[in-house]
Amino acid sequence: MKRVVYNFSPGPAALPKEVIQQAADEMTDWRGSGLSVMEMSHRGKEFTEILANAKSDLRALLSIPDNYQILFMQGGAIAENAVVPMNLVGRKSQQPATIDFVNTGHWSVKTIEEAHKYAKVNIAASSEDAGFTYIPARDTWKLTPDAAYVHICTNETIGGVEFDYTPEVGDVPLVGDMSSNILSREFDVSKYAVIYAGAQKNIGPSGVTIVIVRDDMLGHALPICPSAFDWKLVVEHDSMFNTPPTYPIYIAGLVFQHVLKLGGVAAMEKINIQKADLIYNYLNSTDFYINRVPAAHRSRMNVPFFLRDESLNAKFIEEADKNDLVQLKGHSSVGGMRASIYNAMPLEGVQKLVAFMKDFEKKYG
Ligand SMILES: *Cc1c(COP(=O)(O)O)cnc(C)c1O
Repeated sequence: MKRVVYNFSPGPAALPKEVIQQAADEMTDWRGSGLSVMEMSHRGKEFTEILANAKSDLRALLSIPDNYQILFMQGGAIAENAVVPMNLVGRKSQQPATIDFVNTGHWSVKTIEEAHKYAKVNIAASSEDAGFTYIPARDTWKLTPDAAYVHICTNETIGGVEFDYTPEVGDVPLVGDMSSNILSREFDVSKYAVIYAGAQKNIGPSGVTIVIVRDDMLGHALPICPSAFDWKLVVEHDSMFNTPPTYPIYIAGLVFQHVLKLGGVAAMEKINIQKADLIYNYLNSTDFYINRVPAAHRSRMNVPFFLRDESLNAKFIEEADKNDLVQLKGHSSVGGMRASIYNAMPLEGVQKLVAFMKDFEKKYG
């Protein structure tokens, strides 16, 4: 008997069961080709079709306008922390250029640290004063008028805070790290100049990084930028400047198909609201568990929570595991618990988690 669990991992995260099953069915012979996707030439007609479909399905899912390119890259969001400035600061005649950052937590901090190598850094706003538990209000941001770009992390995967709107930043390009909430809610791509996301939260396996770039952001890479990370070259080679991560792209394509079948991003958002409401409403109703993020800033994707009595942490994890609720341990930098409830987590998984949390409270509260 195979074990079936609800996987609350922050990433690499759960994939839709249907997608895993389809990948298993197609593992040794992709649609009569006699080949596994892993052993296909990336330039062959089979993989060319897989890539083209993945691209057009993502374009449809996010209503990506024609003047934006979709790139399948490698290195994850952490590589993009260098790749973005290497591609964008060259648009400014004065060097070093300034980049504006909104510092909302762990991932913003990492992005900012890396940017120091390529530009002057301006922290336009920060929620560090309150342990990164909120998104600083737009009217408090101190933006640089001629900044190379403004960077935000739309969902802080570790702290569990999320933008519930897209900020207006005038003519300065807006760049978003959407690694952990892309495809989970509707948003207007045209408000951004660049969007990037490592796949392993809401899109597919680790190994492929999605970059969505507006045309006017191409062609400005610094001379030091590795060619394989120069967006213009990657676009010109249709994401095949180097051998792309073919298998992760294939799985991402299956996920896109799956989300389209379920009704697209709007349908995912509806379910994601239900899931988040279920768990946050329960957290609001008890003082056995604590969530430190004010309601307006709470992430729909990552729900960190703490037991008031932290000596029960190990017991909680152990009993959750016995109930087939796994990967709930919080990030080492914050402790406690974290339930990551990305698109692939069904409503029933969250219902089961909340029922377990209530039982646990009854037993130990
Ligand atoms: C996971 C994550 C990252 C790191 O992605 P890598 O693929 O490890 O480079 C960066 N930003 C956010 C918001 C994340 O959730």
